[in-house]
Amino acid sequence: MDASGWLKEHIRDIPDFPKPGVVFKDITPLLGHPAAFRHTVERIGDHFADHSIDKVLGIEARGFIPAAPVAYRFAAGFVPVRKAGKLPWRIESEEYALEYGNDLLEIHCDAINPGERALIVDDVLATGGTAAATVRLVERLGGVVVGLGFIVELAFLAGRGKLQGHDVVSLITYD
Ligand code: AMP
Repeated sequence: MDASGWLKEHIRDIPDFPKPGVVFKDITPLLGHPAAFRHTVERIGDHFADHSIDKVLGIEARGFIPAAPVAYRFAAGFVPVRKAGKLPWRIESEEYALEYGNDLLEIHCDAINPGERALIVDDVLATGGTAAATVRLVERLGGVVVGLGFIVELAFLAGRGKLQGHDVVSLITYD
């Protein structure tokens, strides 16, 4: 079995969560498995090893977990991207599409300095709306998106299409 197949064994499918028709990709078995968690962090880091990275952004909430150790690896800062109303200081916000309606993602306005190089990390790439909004937040602050790293990609939802022109890596793909 290849590394991706091995890692996939640590993802748990939860049908009809949080609502009917959705198969939730539960990463908690992977996070709780020492070798699988370490491998996840190392593979995302290895993919961008030739780049200099100033900030690693984690998307609330599960994205925080792999993003923080990736930031440590690059000796970069960690930046939380949060849902509306959670950040205490001045913010920039971007709308992203949900199945029904829109929601907001927010970042502190001083989280990235102009010219800084940013890596975006999240657990799952689905339709790509969340990740694309995060790219816009980085660029609004004058940062440069080096790439995006995901543990899981739901390729049938074509989220990569919203991230064209960016270096996107995912460790486990569902076609
Ligand atoms: P999207 O904007 O559609 O790419 O959705 C990505 C965000 O929603 C990520 O932050 C994921 O944590 C979450 N997400 C979407 N679909 C799933 C799923 N099937 N299982 C787990 N998380 C998901």
